[in-house]
This record gives sequence, structure tokens and C-alpha cells, in this order.
Amino acid sequence: MSSDCKMIIFIGDGMGGRPVESLGGKTTIEAANTPNLDAVAAGGESGYLHPAGYGIPVGSDTSHMAILGYDPFTFYRGRGPFEAKGVGIDVLPGDLAFRCNFSTLEGNVVTDRRAGRISSGTDQLAAAVREGLKDGIDGVEVIFKESVEHRAALVLRGENLDHRIGEVDPHVEGVDYWECVPLPEAADDPNAIRTAKIVNEFVARAHEILDAHPVNQDRKAKGLPPANAALPRGVGTAVDLEAFEAKYGLTGAMIVEVDLVRGLGAYLSMDVIHVDDATGGADTDEMAIAKAVVDAWADHDFILVNIKAPDLGGHDGDAAAKIASIEKVDRAVGYLLEALDWSRTTMMIAADHCTPCSMMDHSGDGIPIAVIGYGVRPDGVTEYGERACAGGSVGHITGPDVMRMLASYAGRAHKFGA
Ligand SMILES: [Zn+2]
Repeated sequence: MSSDCKMIIFIGDGMGGRPVESLGGKTTIEAANTPNLDAVAAGGESGYLHPAGYGIPVGSDTSHMAILGYDPFTFYRGRGPFEAKGVGIDVLPGDLAFRCNFSTLEGNVVTDRRAGRISSGTDQLAAAVREGLKDGIDGVEVIFKESVEHRAALVLRGENLDHRIGEVDPHVEGVDYWECVPLPEAADDPNAIRTAKIVNEFVARAHEILDAHPVNQDRKAKGLPPANAALPRGVGTAVDLEAFEAKYGLTGAMIVEVDLVRGLGAYLSMDVIHVDDATGGADTDEMAIAKAVVDAWADHDFILVNIKAPDLGGHDGDAAAKIASIEKVDRAVGYLLEALDWSRTTMMIAADHCTPCSMMDHSGDGIPIAVIGYGVRPDGVTEYGERACAGGSVGHITGPDVMRMLASYAGRAHKFGA
């Protein structure tokens, strides 16, 4: 059956949660004022999504892969390649890709993993590191680029690099950064030993360059933590994913705020659309995002949207901030409900994972979802939220079900059998 119905997945990053005591046992979605998300539930079908399977806490990378129908258990090669691709660095077979934080070191002690969430000057810092390491390390090319805020990506390109190495970023503050060493299974492997040495050399030389840099002298003079280190983690290798359009026969766009997910979109050869005022923070312009979705709707069959802010509130354990961000998602969805042609659109509201304020991290909890638009049969649920969606007709689905289900609603599914 052929159809020209468009499909949208609208994700509030980390939007799902658990009951919050200070909210009288409501979740942040339930406590937020969300007339538009409720309208989606009331006009459509609701249920629960478990992207990589029941009870598996996922990252944004593995979750978006699962939701788009690319099995992360088969295809995931670490976070680094997505982060690198997201800032425009191609990761080739044989390369190692890392995500990095600009961090603050005093001696070897990490005093601030995010260098005060540095928001400007990292382009100059990254350029200085590239210049200082332009001859490479032990015959290995060093490609280093800033991402948003304190984030950056590192790619090592050369012969016989081995990904079986440990982290440098200790993930906590007040302790020494870690020396990179081969993983136990590769402890005696000369390639892994050499690769770890190259990573350590990168960290040492980047530290030297960054510590002396005027941007950091300036920060110190202002009493700000200098971004005087780049600490790699999340090593990964080249990813081999079938392009989205080839897999589904749909032209696809991504309007997302984080480079990690943009990197996945780039790997899938989707149109990754940047919205200038989409900051990825609590101050993001949700209306600019919504308008970009309407523009993209005109010439794409499929759009994935992600607003990042609810996840940040969850990680900070800040229920009020999370509620405010969920209300931003609601306003953007409200704009779409007004602006799009719903006789030719099917849209799913979801999160990529839950980030409960009580955990300050991602949980393996199911995610409330609601689908509205063409082909959808309203099920009697009248509200979007953890309790309400549990009663919906979609029931419980996992990542591989999502694209199939949407294609079916949209009249784009292929018949199985005669
Ligand atoms: Zn998160």
C-alpha cells in the first residue's frame, strides 16, 4: 500500500520519571501543565516503550538507535564515533573515536570535570591543541574538535590502533585522572599497550598546551576554572549502519540538540537540521524547533525531533527545572498540532529514556508514549503521563516495534503474506 502520510517521532529527552515526593507523588510529567501532550493522548493511542528491552537503562545513543530500528546490541560501537560524527569528523575503519570533556586539573587532580561548564573559547582551545599536535603522536594523526559547552571529540587515525583500552576521565571530581591502560583482556597486547601510551601522551601534551593558553589565563584571572585538560572516554570504532532512506524508503530529517544524536543522524545519512536557537539547554527556543519541524515536514517523509532540556533537570535532581522543560516540549507539540496537516501525519510522543529526579541518572523504567494522527484509533486515555499511558491500547513495545508501528498507522507498511 502506498501513502504520503508523514511520520514524526517527538522526543522529550529523559522526560519520563518516577513519583517525586515533593510533588505529592506525581511524576514531573504528571505535575507539569501539558494541555497539548494530553491532547495527543486524548486524540490517540497510548502505551509504554522499552527501547532496548524491559529494564535496560539506555543512553541517548543506544536508545535513538533502537527507536530508529538499528539494533544497538549489534551495531553499537561506543559513544565516541557518534560524538565525532556529530561535530563533523568522519570516523573511518581503523580509527578510534573518543568523546572528551574539557576539564580542570590541579596537578593530576580533576577539580571540575566540566571546567565550569565552559561555554566560550573552546574553539580556540581546540585549535591550539590541533596546532600543537599537528605532527601526530608516534605516527598517529590526532583530530580534535570542540562540541557544545565543555564537550569535545577526539579521533586517532593510524596503523594498528586497539580499542581495548580504559578510560582517562575518572567520572568523579577530587581524584587523579586515570592513566589509560589496556583492558585486562588485552593487557599483553602490544597494539593495546601502544594505543594506551598514545592516549596518555595526548592527555599530557594537551594539558601543557591548554594550561598555557590565553583563554585559560583569562579564565583564571576572572576566578573561573580553567579548561586546562581534555580527558577522553567512551572509545569507539567506525560504525557501519545502513542509510535511513535505503532501509525504509523514507526521506528522513533530524532536528535534535545534541551532537551525539546528530552524529547518529549523519551516520544514517539523514538531513541533520540545525536550529540556531536550539541551545540544548534549559533556555532553548522550543518554538524555533517547532517551526523547523513544520518546514522539514514539507519535504521529508519522516522527522525525528528531540528537545534535550528535560534530561538535564533529571540529572540535576531538579524537579522544577524538569517540569519547566517538559512544558517547553508541550508548547512545541502544541504548535505542531495547530500547524500540520493531520490528515497526512502520524506522530509519536516519547522520551528516549526516563531520567528520574530521584536517580539523577537514566533508569530502565518504561517510557510513556502517545501516538496521534492518521490511522490512529483513540483508546480512551485522556492524559499523557506515566500512570495514564499504562492504560492505553498500544501496550508495551520495544525499539524494533516503533518504526513498524508508525509505518502501519501511516499506511506505509508492507503486507506480510498474501
Ligand atoms: Zn541523560
